[in-house]
Amino acid sequence: MTRCINCRTQISPRATICPHCGEPDPGRKKRSRSVFLWLTLLALVAFLYFVYFYNLKWLIISLVAVFAFNFLRRKV
Ligand SMILES: [Zn+2]
Repeated sequence: MTRCINCRTQISPRATICPHCGEPDPGRKKRSRSVFLWLTLLALVAFLYFVYFYNLKWLIISLVAVFAFNFLRRKV
């Protein structure tokens, strides 16, 4: 048995749709996505340090661009 990534209900690992919440592919691994999220957070922290120490406007602009890009990607 495995758990649905959306509602955490116990489901069959081979289930293609969650019977509880209707999540498609509920047994898929979330790991690679969370690693990507942590790397993004790490990059954001590094950017914030540069912005704080050097006070560069273009770094703030690229920071916002990266954040907006990730936000849009998550929605699709
Ligand atoms: Zn579910």
